[in-house]
Amino acid sequence: MSELKKIGFIGTGIMGAAMAGHLMDAGFEVSVYNRTKSKAQKLIERGARWCETAGDCAKGQDVVITIVGYPKDVEQVYLSEGGIVDSAKAGAFLVDMTTSSPIVAEKIYNAAKAKNLNAVDAPVTGGDTGAKNATLTIFVGGDENSFDALKPVFEVLGKNIVYEGSAGAGQKTKIANQIALAGALAGAAEAFAYAKAAGLDVEKVYAAISKGSASSIQMTDILSRGLLNNNFNPGFMVKHLAKDLAIGNETATSYGQALPILGIVLHELRKLEKDGNGAEGTQAILKYYGVASEET
Ligand code: NAP
Repeated sequence: MSELKKIGFIGTGIMGAAMAGHLMDAGFEVSVYNRTKSKAQKLIERGARWCETAGDCAKGQDVVITIVGYPKDVEQVYLSEGGIVDSAKAGAFLVDMTTSSPIVAEKIYNAAKAKNLNAVDAPVTGGDTGAKNATLTIFVGGDENSFDALKPVFEVLGKNIVYEGSAGAGQKTKIANQIALAGALAGAAEAFAYAKAAGLDVEKVYAAISKGSASSIQMTDILSRGLLNNNFNPGFMVKHLAKDLAIGNETATSYGQALPILGIVLHELRKLEKDGNGAEGTQAILKYYGVASEET
């Protein structure tokens, strides 16, 4: 347990609820806020203090952690009047673990600095399984001394914790991760589409190729849910991967880097969103390829 004791935790969805629970288990004094209160109920029953707004949740805390949805949600909770930057006490650490834009991360870092607050961007990978098992990978951008001070908090949530550089570097690394993940996910879905079209038994194909050199976490931990169990419940939502790839697309253009595979997968995810599958897990990409049925 570090000198940091009091944590305000904002965003208790699929990822946040499990992460806040681990912080409570580790002995931190946790206050929570979420747009939909019912999603914080289990934490409240376990002793977390409920706050009525994000700003209230930031007041008097040593650390404020956020893991909300989109960059616009991040801007709202941090930068709106009475939000986190307005409300946190001087010297507090602000940790955004949402997958968000590096530009927003820099904006928050600068607004926080002006108020003697220490902001870092610290997005994660490892999925719902990594959040539940506290085995997340955490990519951190901001001041290195903030990273050092926050390490005991990060170590409660993850196993592979890397300082990537100045503000925004955590988000940029996370987007690089999503670019690799998108290719692996779509590539695996395409393999099963091929197998089906070739008249093979896709479950037998899975049994073989999931153990070979083409295997990946996307194949075994994500696609398998839809392919083998017809389970399309979200671990990681289609609409959130689309959000990540859109950030990748925009920033890559500004860096002058072409990303053709990202473009294709983003198009596939947008189609799924349009067809009403946005809140399903990313294994729903199987539906784009016609490998899984629409009825779930
Ligand atoms: P989620 O289940 O939708 O959780 C996000 C939570 O934040 C929701 O409960 C939402 O409230 C709340 N929220 C959003 N905007 C808010 C606001 N302005 N004020 C207060 N609360 C707000 O999504 P998730 O899967 O946990 O993902 C959260 C973030 O982590 C996303 O950026 C995602 O891309 C990233 N991520 C997810 C995974 C994964 O595998 N799931 C892995 C790595 C990173 P409501 O309940 O009202 O919607």
